[in-house]
Amino acid sequence: MKILYLMGAGHVGSTVIDVVIAANPRIESLGEAWKLPTAWAGEKTERICACGAPISTCPFWREVRTVWAELAGDDDVERLVALMRHFDGSGNALAWPRMLRSRYQPSAEFREYARRSLALYQAVAQVGGKQTIVESSLSPRRAFVLASTPGIDLHLVHVVRDGRGVIWSHRNPAKAAVRRSFQPAPTRHITRYWLTANLQSAFVYAHVRPERRMRLRYEDFVTDPEAVLARIGAFVGEDLSGLLTPERAIRQPAPVRHTPGGNRVRLLREVQVRKDFGWMEQLPAADRAFFWRWAGWLAHHYGYTREPGA
Ligand SMILES: [Zn+2]
Repeated sequence: MKILYLMGAGHVGSTVIDVVIAANPRIESLGEAWKLPTAWAGEKTERICACGAPISTCPFWREVRTVWAELAGDDDVERLVALMRHFDGSGNALAWPRMLRSRYQPSAEFREYARRSLALYQAVAQVGGKQTIVESSLSPRRAFVLASTPGIDLHLVHVVRDGRGVIWSHRNPAKAAVRRSFQPAPTRHITRYWLTANLQSAFVYAHVRPERRMRLRYEDFVTDPEAVLARIGAFVGEDLSGLLTPERAIRQPAPVRHTPGGNRVRLLREVQVRKDFGWMEQLPAADRAFFWRWAGWLAHHYGYTREPGA
């Protein structure tokens, strides 16, 4: 079971990358796949599938659930959610040591989790008739679990973006206009999150074989998406050329997608690759300086420079 997994900190353009890649008819997009079991378990408000129907009534996901239950041996989604929280739930500090142990001495519980989640990917591939699944959950913990799951051929992409662009993206006035509750996180929080998420990602990256991992910069993707898609295509063994128009929209009128989780991008009819380098002109000097003081060393490692364009 081949999975192309996008890992990293948030606001790296992963949903757009995911949707563009899944324009290839051999690839199914799971988006933020962890949201599917929680939607099945009926938690909180009803989650909407990218096709427009609620997850609970979307025919695609109903069929996936039936096939999943057959493969997993029962229909116990609550159990899947509990195991998922236990092993890759964010904010769970014990999850890391538990996962490290699982990799070398898998407990019965871990084997059960691995079996149930593998069944989910297999069900998705079977119902959609696809060879490869792209997932943009981003979580490094989840990536580590997948890397330790027998039967999953993980192709790991660590997506990075200049942290100053990430801070800018959090402040995005366009988002502030659509979401009334919108309140950007303070620069120090975003900087800390950027560091921890990328360091955790680096840890997972180091545990994956070189031919099964690649690093991708948001800036390279939005500057020359065709070249980056060619790189990802060679990496995952799928032809990803010709998916975009010269205007960088997805070429085909997108087929109906059933991505269960991700940001608003997955619900759009027309998806276009856009550059957002607005931080270079508009992010206040104090925020840039703060980021660079604490995280510049790691940003430098990814090829970013203190002065943009230097
Ligand atoms: Zn659907």
